[in-house]
Amino acid sequence: MKFSKSLSILLLGALAVACSTNPFTGKQTLALVPNSQILPMAFQQYQEFLSEHKVVNNTADARMVKSVGQKIAAAAERYLTANGYAGYLADYRWEYNLVDSKEVNAWCMPGGKIVVYTGILPITKDEAGLAAVMGHEVAHALANHGQQRMSAAQLQQVGAVAGNIALANNPENQQIFNTAYGLGTNVGVMLPFSRSHETEADHIGLILMAIAGYEPAVAAELWQRMQAQENGNTPPEFLSTHPSSSTRIQNIQAWAPEARAEARKFGVTNFKR
Ligand SMILES: [Zn+2]
Repeated sequence: MKFSKSLSILLLGALAVACSTNPFTGKQTLALVPNSQILPMAFQQYQEFLSEHKVVNNTADARMVKSVGQKIAAAAERYLTANGYAGYLADYRWEYNLVDSKEVNAWCMPGGKIVVYTGILPITKDEAGLAAVMGHEVAHALANHGQQRMSAAQLQQVGAVAGNIALANNPENQQIFNTAYGLGTNVGVMLPFSRSHETEADHIGLILMAIAGYEPAVAAELWQRMQAQENGNTPPEFLSTHPSSSTRIQNIQAWAPEARAEARKFGVTNFKR
């Protein structure tokens, strides 16, 4: 009893200093593992993933992935700078790669390392649909959702190892990173984010795609197409981590005017469909 009380006090101390602010919501989030540790791990895992998979280069689709990715990244930079977070992306090393795979999937690792699988392109259908997916995935990275999952894993582990809270230099961080991102045995297969993280990524993603010049209402159409895939024999990998639902689609429809209004602040008046 006495021991667990002192552990709690230690933990509270760690929590007090280990938070970061989500620049989109203003909310404080748990950041027990700093980005200075997460990003190098992400960059290394990304390189390994690319070396083990067939990266598509110099096709129209590969060029579209890079071009949409660059526009989403630029939108993030503009939004953050305008909202007092200039420098937030200083450690980002954006990369946008199309990988040849039947899997219906896409993800963005911390630090802006994006993979789109060729298997998702029939569902994203066009540039605006792809912008909806990439905006959503980038939003998870910008909001540090993976970092929060790592922090939750850290807390569990701290409990397990009884008081060893040298968090920032924890040699187990690599393992926790792999678990949080579903890496290791299944490289690139993310664990599902929580429903609140999904909702947050939908909201932020819409703003990003609108500032990038894409019609945000297209995102609702994209999720409707996803939903139509759900009943097939092999539901897309993407849907196992991003379940489509009528609530999600309704939210996106309701937020679309707000996303367009946000984009107009940046001089965007045309929204490509
Ligand atoms: Zn998501």
